[in-house]
Amino acid sequence: MTKKTSPARLIICMVCIVAVAFSLGGFASLEKAAAKEKKRPKIAVEAGHQKHANLSLERVGPDTSARKIKVAGGTTGVSTRVPEYKLTLAVAKRLRKELESRGYTVYMVRTKNNVNISNRTRAIRANHSGADICIRLHADDAGASGPSGASCLYKTKANRYASAKTNRKSKKLSKCILTKYCKRTGCKNRGLSKRNDLTGSNWSKIPITLIEMGFMSNPKEDRKMQKASYQKKMAKGIADGIDAYYGYK
Ligand SMILES: [Zn+2]
Repeated sequence: MTKKTSPARLIICMVCIVAVAFSLGGFASLEKAAAKEKKRPKIAVEAGHQKHANLSLERVGPDTSARKIKVAGGTTGVSTRVPEYKLTLAVAKRLRKELESRGYTVYMVRTKNNVNISNRTRAIRANHSGADICIRLHADDAGASGPSGASCLYKTKANRYASAKTNRKSKKLSKCILTKYCKRTGCKNRGLSKRNDLTGSNWSKIPITLIEMGFMSNPKEDRKMQKASYQKKMAKGIADGIDAYYGYK
């Protein structure tokens, strides 16, 4: 036999249901607001080099007739024998993950090693991607085991393809990334370097930097850069630099 529910109990139940529904809706809108709050700019990440060099020529920049090869072969770890193109893509993928966890959107110029994308095309793809800034990842080679540490290469106002303001921002971006990268990884800070001969930077219309993340010609640094724990620090350091550039934290 079923018990008859009293009208008072029915009203209490209905009030409870409405209250729960309202609080769930409230949580949903709070979550939405938090996600919106976290939404950060789009970042282009360009992993330097590729499996095979492309030795045909292209113009070094829009305001010059000077030409350079489309994509250089890059260096190889003196101890690990890992090629630079594999290291740059490994760090690029970790950087994408780190940036997305911080609320950024990421455009990857390449996600595979066996591609054929010239440096000029890389810059133009980043220009068209809707990204706000572009980070180029490379590793260094001194031809000797001694040198170690990181540097950032930036273009000066001598390059007229991007506005003077954008070129100033490239320098700021380079400084922020290098400082935070060296802080997070503990590697030597070799400073900023003016370079107006880099095709992949010269064709960029957005603030851009190229980070030389360490020396593959230094056996110790080469081995370190292949460790997952160190690669995570590299990615976090670059992301810290991007945060600093935008004034987050
Ligand atoms: Zn390189």
